[in-house]
Amino acid sequence: MAQDSKIEWTNHTANLWWGCTEVHEGCNNCYAKAWAKRYQPAELWGNDSARMEIGGVWKALAKYQRLAKAENQIHRVFVGSMMDIFEKPGLLINRVGVKAIDWNDGSQFDVSHIRERLFEEVIPASPNLLFLLLTKRPSNINKYIPESWKANPPANVMFGTSPVNQSTFDTLTRQLLQVNGKRFLSIEPQLEGIRSVDLTGIDWVIQGGESGPKKRPFNTDWARSMRDDCARQKVAYFFKQIDKVQDIPGDLLIRQFPA
Ligand code: SF4
Repeated sequence: MAQDSKIEWTNHTANLWWGCTEVHEGCNNCYAKAWAKRYQPAELWGNDSARMEIGGVWKALAKYQRLAKAENQIHRVFVGSMMDIFEKPGLLINRVGVKAIDWNDGSQFDVSHIRERLFEEVIPASPNLLFLLLTKRPSNINKYIPESWKANPPANVMFGTSPVNQSTFDTLTRQLLQVNGKRFLSIEPQLEGIRSVDLTGIDWVIQGGESGPKKRPFNTDWARSMRDDCARQKVAYFFKQIDKVQDIPGDLLIRQFPA
């Protein structure tokens, strides 16, 4: 599934597969998991479960590239909202939800084939798309990107990670900084305060609270602190939401994008 996105910080969202395994407290109310439980017969969550192929994504990505080129614009593509692009390889199943898909040689198809297709075919062919590769597993990035990216990261890729409190901020940011290339943080849903931080090496910070019936509280002073850190260190800052119900105070209506 790929779509024009309702997420304010991207133009499009692209999911290459559906399914994942929880990583930290930010995953506790994962809506992609809730949807899967409701609508899919197969178990798609957990290290031992297969992931479901999303067939239409390649055509959609080609369309986004054509559109962006026709407009002479760069469109942002978030990968992905129902998966984690840097999960370890696992079995891929089809929409029936029970049958492993055969690769040409009869072997089973796993998520690493899909990831390689994105990295090696689609990203190089899409100069008008900026791919926002967001993961809660930044320590896997250098394991799964093409070798050539380590010295020469593509101009149309940003690597991001998603901390939710001080300990995940410290750990995940340190791991992200091991990756060569443009980098961003998506601090959502933020669950605790994060003290004043050094953002050296970070190009963009997105921040916000949780929405939905099980939302956990967000303190707008957490946003003011991060806003000020970004301003001082000349890092683009984007405040997304408190909880999608409360209005955003005027001093937090800041929606910058990286150059
Ligand atoms: S990493 Fe993302 S998709 Fe995976 S369980 Fe956590 S919130 Fe859900």
